[in-house]
Amino acid sequence: MTTRKELADIIFPEVTETIQDLEKKYPPRSHSVCTRFAPSPTGFLHIGGVSTGFISRKFAKQNAWTFMLRIEDTDQKREVEGSVELIVQYMKTFGIGIDEWSLGENHSDVGNYGPYKQSQRKSIYKVFAKHLLANGLAYPCWMTTEEMNATRELQTKSKVTPGIYWNYSVRRNKSSEEILEKLQSDKNFVIRFRSPGDATKRVVFDDVVKWRIETIDNFNDIVLIKSDELPTYHLAHIADDHLMRTSHVIRSEERLPSVPLHIQLFQSFGLPIPKYCHVAPLLKLDNWNKRKLSKRHDPESDIWFFFEKGYATQGIIEFLLTLIDPWFEERQKANPDKTYLDFEMKLEKMSKSWALFDFVKLQSVNNNYLSKISTDELYEQSLTRAEKYRPELAALMKSDVSYIKAALNIERHTPLKTGQAAKDPKRFTTYADVETQLRFFFDEERAKLIQNSEFRIQKEKSIISKDIAKSFVDEYIQVMNLSMSVEEWFAQLKEIWKKYGFAWNNAEFKEGWYVGKIWDLAMFLRIQLCCTAQTPDLYSVMQVMGKERVTKRLRA
Ligand code: GLU
Repeated sequence: MTTRKELADIIFPEVTETIQDLEKKYPPRSHSVCTRFAPSPTGFLHIGGVSTGFISRKFAKQNAWTFMLRIEDTDQKREVEGSVELIVQYMKTFGIGIDEWSLGENHSDVGNYGPYKQSQRKSIYKVFAKHLLANGLAYPCWMTTEEMNATRELQTKSKVTPGIYWNYSVRRNKSSEEILEKLQSDKNFVIRFRSPGDATKRVVFDDVVKWRIETIDNFNDIVLIKSDELPTYHLAHIADDHLMRTSHVIRSEERLPSVPLHIQLFQSFGLPIPKYCHVAPLLKLDNWNKRKLSKRHDPESDIWFFFEKGYATQGIIEFLLTLIDPWFEERQKANPDKTYLDFEMKLEKMSKSWALFDFVKLQSVNNNYLSKISTDELYEQSLTRAEKYRPELAALMKSDVSYIKAALNIERHTPLKTGQAAKDPKRFTTYADVETQLRFFFDEERAKLIQNSEFRIQKEKSIISKDIAKSFVDEYIQVMNLSMSVEEWFAQLKEIWKKYGFAWNNAEFKEGWYVGKIWDLAMFLRIQLCCTAQTPDLYSVMQVMGKERVTKRLRA
C-alpha cells in the first residue's frame, strides 16, 4: 500500500529539506518584532498600499524593529515590468525606508531572510506543500474548469455554499493508489488543502486593529500550489511570514475573511500564528453607494494621480492618516505644529470601519499643510514638482529665485509693507495652484497667457475704452510710486480714476453720470498685468513685479 509520505515523495522528488531545516536557515530574529509590506508588481501603487506600507514601516521603526519589502509576484500574468522599481521609488518619496528587500547592488538581496521576491522562493513553498501531502493534509486535484463550473451550478441550484470541499471535491477522498494511478498518466494538477473545517463551526480570533472577531470557519479545500508550481497567496503568506519571522501581519481588511483559513493552515503546520492587523480600506461614494476604490474605474486608486494633481506627499499621508487613524486627527488638533512623524502610532486605536475617501478633506489637509510650511520650503517643493511636470516653468523659477519667493510669499506669512496680518495664508491648495499663480510673474508665460481665452474674454468684457486706457496708463506711469503704503497707493489711484469718470462706490455710481466703477479699472490693471482675474492682492503683486516690469506691461 502506498503511504501518504511515499505519494509526497513521488510528487516532489526534488524536495529533500524539511520545514525544520528551513527554520534553521531562517532563525527567529534577535528582536521580537518585524513587519513587511507585500505588494504585487502590477505596474501601479494603490493608494491603500501607501497607507498599509506607511503604517507597517512606522510601526516597525517607532520600536526600532525591521521592515521588509516582499514582492508578491506569483501571479505572473498580472506582472508589469518595472513595477518593483516604481514601488520603491514611491516608497522613497513617502519617506518609507526599507531595511530588507530585493533591490540591493546588482539586484541582490539585502537581509538574511530572502529571497524577497516570491517567484524566487518556489523551492520553499514546495517544502511546505510536501509536508502537508505527507501528513494527509493536502492532495493533488485534477478538476477541470468545466467540472468546477458544473459543481458551482449544482451548488447554486441546491442552495449550498459554492466551493470545492467534502464530496464536491472529486479526489479529496480517493485512496493513495487511485491518486498514484492518475499521477502516472496526468501531470497537470494543483495541490489542494484538505481543510479540517466544518460548516457549523465558528472561530474566534483577535486582530490588533479590529479586536475580537467571531466568524464562520473555513471548510473550502483551497488551492495551495497552482499547476505552474507557484503557490497561491494563502500558502505563500504562511511560508513567508513564518520564515521571514514577521511578527505583525499588517494588511488590508480585504484579507480579513481569509483569516480562518490562514489559522487552519498555521495549525496544520504546527506553527505559531503571527499577530494580524487588518487596516480599513478606502471606500468611494458612487451614486450614494459605498464601494471599494477600483483600479479600473477610479483613477484616484493609483498614487500617481495625486502627484499629477499636485498634492504634497505629506498632505497625502496626513490625509490617509485622518481616514484610518482617528487618534492621529485628535492629537494633530491638539498639537497643530506637529507632524505625523511626531506622533506614536497605536494599531489598536486605528479605525475599525471602512474609511470613506473624501476629496474635500484631502484638499483641506493639503491646503493646511502648504499654508504651514515656510516660503523657502514651498519654493523647493514646488520647484521639484515643476521640474517633473512643467520643466519650462521650473527653468524660469530657477532663473530669479528671490523674485519667485517674493511672489509666493504674497498674502502668506509676511505681507509686503502693509504691516497687517497675513491675508490669505491658505492661498495654495496644491502645487498646481502654485504653478498657475506663478505663471503671470514671468514675461515668457504672460506672452502665452495673452493667447488664452480668459484673457480675451476679460478684455472683451472690459468697459474701458482704448483712449481711456491709454491716457490713464500715461498719467499713472508718471506718478507711480511702489514704495507708498497700500493706503497711499490706493488713494492716489482713486484720485486719478475719479477724473476718468469712475465711481468710487455703488452709491456714487447710482448718481448716474459715472461711466463705470472703480472695480472696472482695478480689473483692467489686473488683467493688463497678470492676464487673469485670479490673482492675489494687486498692490503686493505690483510691488513684487517692480516698477520697470509693471510699466512695461501697462504700456504693452
Ligand atoms: N500581495 C497582497 C496584496 O497586495 C499582500 C497582502 C498582504 O499584505 O499579506 O494584497
